[in-house]
Amino acid sequence: MVAQPAPCRCAVVTGANRGLGLALARGLAESGAHVVVTAREGGRASSAVAAALRADGLSAEAYVPPLDVGDLRSVRAFGEFCAAAAVAPDALVNNAAVCEEGWSDAVVRRALRTNALGPFWLARALLPGMRRHGGGRILSVSSGDGELAYLHSALQDDLRAARTAPQLLRVLGRARPPRQRYGAAPAHGPTPAYALSKAALNAGSRILAAEEAGVWVGAVCPGDVRTRMCVDPEARARAVPADAAVPSVLWLLERAAGLPSGRFWRDREEISF
Ligand code: NAP
Repeated sequence: MVAQPAPCRCAVVTGANRGLGLALARGLAESGAHVVVTAREGGRASSAVAAALRADGLSAEAYVPPLDVGDLRSVRAFGEFCAAAAVAPDALVNNAAVCEEGWSDAVVRRALRTNALGPFWLARALLPGMRRHGGGRILSVSSGDGELAYLHSALQDDLRAARTAPQLLRVLGRARPPRQRYGAAPAHGPTPAYALSKAALNAGSRILAAEEAGVWVGAVCPGDVRTRMCVDPEARARAVPADAAVPSVLWLLERAAGLPSGRFWRDREEISF
């Protein structure tokens, strides 16, 4: 049974300076949440968004230092800021991501750090505050490209079998250059590093959900959204504006209490990993 919607009280959004993150920050604020706007560049990038929300009568603050989710020190500094400033988010939206073509060491490293490891560093930084306040919701914006079906079959099996974060990290270590146990590009399509990183994000959500009974964890594919990331002409032709992708993401966050944790969603429906 789906519980009554419960708006978020205080939500952190990563990559909130543009694209879907910007639209999600506004959607969350319009639903009544106080939004902590973060951006890789920090400074004016986050301040301008928070100021625009406040100018519309919404509740928002900027985290002014850069929050580069692929940089552990940057993530830890944000966690320390929240603790020191008594900012107690009950919702974390891991939205920031990169999507690059190719399978070089640098491309794979950026994809894994930004799209898969960063969201979990951030979750771990905010979990103590969520636990102290009786729970929370961690939603990671994933992608259909991360569905296991797109990956080398042995990699699918190993990701499915990973039950702990160290096991997942070992699988990722074997997948990436120079070991490449699953081949030189273990996923279909022009952006295999992105597909691997989103599959890892989904597996990590499942693992985190099993570890953290008091916090709801989920991954969501927003569908094709007309942002800078959506460059494939076919996808762009069917893509929706960022505002239109917001309601199904908010639906999940607001009904989290009545939905199973550790799952993957699209259009308000659970989909398979
Ligand atoms: P986008 O317009 O390219 O925006 C990406 C955002 O992530 C930007 O704010 C960017 O900041 C930020 N970012 C990148 N690296 C970062 C880092 N290391 N630290 C902090 N922020 C970082 O893409 P989008 O379409 O809005 O993507 C939002 C989410 O939706 C992503 O998770 C993406 O994978 C997912 N998604 C999108 C589509 C689609 O069709 N667009 C489809 C499926 C899933 P800068 O401005 O500093 O670069």
